[in-house]
Amino acid sequence: MNGRCLPLLISGSLFVSAAFGGSLDPGAGTIRVGVFGLFHSRQLTIHPREGRPFTLTCGEKRFRIEGSQSAQLTLAGQAVECRFGGLAALSTEVSILNPDAVFVLEIPGKIERHYRGALTVRPSAEELQPVISMPLETAVASIVAAEAPANADAGALEAQAVVTRSYLAAGPRHRNLNGGSDFDFCDTTHCQYLVEPPAPGEAVSQASSATRGMVLRHQGEVVRALYSARCGGATQTLEDVGLTPGKYPYYRVPCPSCIRTPDRWTRTIERQQASALIQQPDNETARLQIVRRLGWQALPSNNYQVSTTASDITFQGTGSGHGVGLCQQGAMGLASEGLNFQSILSHYFPNTSLASINP
Ligand SMILES: [Zn+2]
Ligand SMILES: [Zn+2]
Repeated sequence: MNGRCLPLLISGSLFVSAAFGGSLDPGAGTIRVGVFGLFHSRQLTIHPREGRPFTLTCGEKRFRIEGSQSAQLTLAGQAVECRFGGLAALSTEVSILNPDAVFVLEIPGKIERHYRGALTVRPSAEELQPVISMPLETAVASIVAAEAPANADAGALEAQAVVTRSYLAAGPRHRNLNGGSDFDFCDTTHCQYLVEPPAPGEAVSQASSATRGMVLRHQGEVVRALYSARCGGATQTLEDVGLTPGKYPYYRVPCPSCIRTPDRWTRTIERQQASALIQQPDNETARLQIVRRLGWQALPSNNYQVSTTASDITFQGTGSGHGVGLCQQGAMGLASEGLNFQSILSHYFPNTSLASINP
């Protein structure tokens, strides 16, 4: 549990659930994830993982990159300049076409991650936008690896895998938004936090493959399933936290683990920094605006009591995250008591059923 949650920038598009099994494209089961968007980088380096070669396409040129070689990509106006060895090429798109490619993407001095899938890099709003096309199941395993502790019991990891898959299978969150996004999901907590794919033998990989294709369904549609780190004792509905209700009506369900271990916290914030929460108590959108300015730990959840002075607001609360949907700590607690993922999911998502995305 890393305290991360799924922040909800609820818009009208969030709960547009496509018909079951028909929401993903291009190609059944492949999603396009925009990565490194937080860095607004104009430079990228690409190199092989463990020496495994790949071919980089830059306009008319193709570079085979292997061993310890690397290629440098730089934004050049409305194009991407690609440098490899003593060669250079300019194109509006640089790509790795092989859908099974394994490669390392790096913003020099800032971040380095390996990915499995096809890659396109295009200029977008004066930065380079890398997009990885990866199988849905690779994305699920990568997100579960980022979100769940590897030592959690299998039931909790499997519940997280189904929730993550359901969220993704409910349809893209970015494509056609803002006119410029050419991907389905981003890799931050705006959508779901995604890092590197885990190795096949890891517990998170096994949890993903054990639930392969399984999603939560409500009234015939895939549920855009939400989760947070610790609910504080009971989960909340979207209305409870000031968010627009969607097709799946989330429920308040008691959470035995969080009742036993309530994880209380106190935070004091300058009145002018948190005034939105005086007008809109418990409002998740207002909380997110504050934590984006002050940091995720400035106000860990929307489950709190408020006291004010002339200059400050003191929040005494419990939990971490929005508290809607699956509670990760609660899932771990139930799994440690021997409940399987089906029982955990039916506890946190009443009136849903499990179904296969590829019937
Ligand atoms: Zn996003
Ligand atoms: Zn809980």
